[in-house]
Amino acid sequence: MAKKTVFKEGKWRCTHIDLSGEEACNFENRGPALKCEKCGKHRPKNVEFYLPDNAKIIRDKDELYDAKAGANWSCMHCNYDNKATSDTCVHCDTPRDTEYEKWINLGGELSTKSYAAGQAPKSSKTLKQKADEYVPVRSRLKKYLKIAAIALGVILIIWFIYAQFFATSEVEVKVVGYSWERSMTVEEERTVSEEGWNVPSGGRQKRRERKQSGTKEVYDHSEWDEEPIYEDVMVGTQQVECGTVDNGNGTFETQYCDEPVYESQQTGTREVERKIYRDEPVYDYWYTYDIERWFEIANPKSSGSNHTAKWPDYKLKSKERIGSEYESYTVLVEPISGDSDFGTLTYELSESEWNGMDMGEIFIAKVRKSGTVKALLPPN
Ligand SMILES: [Zn+2]
Ligand SMILES: [Zn+2]
Repeated sequence: MAKKTVFKEGKWRCTHIDLSGEEACNFENRGPALKCEKCGKHRPKNVEFYLPDNAKIIRDKDELYDAKAGANWSCMHCNYDNKATSDTCVHCDTPRDTEYEKWINLGGELSTKSYAAGQAPKSSKTLKQKADEYVPVRSRLKKYLKIAAIALGVILIIWFIYAQFFATSEVEVKVVGYSWERSMTVEEERTVSEEGWNVPSGGRQKRRERKQSGTKEVYDHSEWDEEPIYEDVMVGTQQVECGTVDNGNGTFETQYCDEPVYESQQTGTREVERKIYRDEPVYDYWYTYDIERWFEIANPKSSGSNHTAKWPDYKLKSKERIGSEYESYTVLVEPISGDSDFGTLTYELSESEWNGMDMGEIFIAKVRKSGTVKALLPPN
């Protein structure tokens, strides 16, 4: 892979804060600038270089020379940044002494950094982060308030539904009447004629005949189609970014690599089999048979408002039977206190409970707002 290197001018932001105000200078300087082009303050310690998308490509001979010279160095005496080509601080005239820099752990060379393709920072992180953190705090608070309001609304609705439809109050009542209902279905057995692909148990076959029951797919023949064959063919190369180096002096070195470009092209054809099927009828026996089935013929009912429940009076004839039975028992109760919201209330219960309830007997009724009795309990 052929490689090509391009030098680009990075940027840095001035973070100097003026004594009079709280706002940082924030000026975006050319990468190689050693002091702020707006406020004149030194390039800050641990300066952060970044490479905007529209960064200037360095073509000037002197600028290229500086870019290739190496990382800048900080003066151990005054902290001013100097070019790699200067041996003496242009700000305070102190000569550079790398051994002494190491000894006092001040000054030294600005770091160079390597980035994978597309990973070089495109803007100043410090200021961008501040902006990112500030906005979410407010919008997050708004979001929490919204969620809290929705939760409160849901709780209120649930409470309202509960109070309206489910909550019960206790009322002292006495038994003032009864009501009951009983009913049943009567079925008769009849012989009927039915048809189908088979005879169910209990059926007596009368006839059978051959009939088409469906179709099935049968292989008939094959047809051959010609299909194009496509392959990826290399048609050339293109240059893509394959890494960037922060030179530590405000410039960046971006490497471009040649990458093959492929294109899908037809390189031939091949024969493809397509199987053709046809539908063929399938035959089976169709039966006619006699069978006994039960039919509902009557639904006698009885009811009353006394304390003696009876089944409807029905005499089963031959080939008849009881199908299903239904029964329901209700007591009528009235609040003992005259100033109750409720009038006569009804409560359905089992036959044995109903049988054991005497006229005038006192109970505690659990009653919903709608007048539905949920339970009858013995008085405490
Ligand atoms: Zn500035
Ligand atoms: Zn200096």
